[in-house]
Amino acid sequence: RKGDEQYDHLVKLLLLGDSAVGKSSLLMRFCEDKFTPQFVLTIGVDFKTKTVACGGKRLKLQVWDTAGQERFRTITPAYYRSAMGVILTYDITSMETFNNIRYWMKNLEDYADKNVQKVLIGNKCDLEGDRQVPTQRGRDLAAEYHIPFFETSAKSNSNVEASFMCISDLIRAS
Ligand code: GDP
Repeated sequence: RKGDEQYDHLVKLLLLGDSAVGKSSLLMRFCEDKFTPQFVLTIGVDFKTKTVACGGKRLKLQVWDTAGQERFRTITPAYYRSAMGVILTYDITSMETFNNIRYWMKNLEDYADKNVQKVLIGNKCDLEGDRQVPTQRGRDLAAEYHIPFFETSAKSNSNVEASFMCISDLIRAS
């Protein structure tokens, strides 16, 4: 317990995935319940926190955004250090971002703690008309990695909370 804000555990989460899949937007939606349509390039290290109730405990989630490093594929190993959970994100309107999930997964295997919990997210599910990645492809990939899968929309606020609560629950139970 630190300061005047009471919590039982501090939990470090990472958002990972290609540029423009909506990582910053998911963070903004989850922590501040806001959405901005502009593409805001994240520069420098960036995290937000939100305290949630989970299984009778209060978890202070410290959620890190990649700080735009993913554009250059230069995520430093330090970013992965001490992460307890990773939200792997692609954009359902971009097959390329889906295919790159394997690359990000490989990075995790190389640099993250091997007990790190993961969830797979297909974001921008409000853009059904532009869909390139069938839902079943997402489900199959998640099943291959034995991790939960959600299709989300930071814009219409669909499944965002559920995704963050799912990974919090996995961490609490691990
Ligand atoms: P990041 O580079 O992964 O952090 O991506 P951003 O959060 O900056 O989002 C990239 C662009 O996609 C921005 O223009 C966002 O407004 C937009 N975006 C993010 N999430 C969604 C979503 O769920 N639906 C729609 N339609 N657009 C989104």
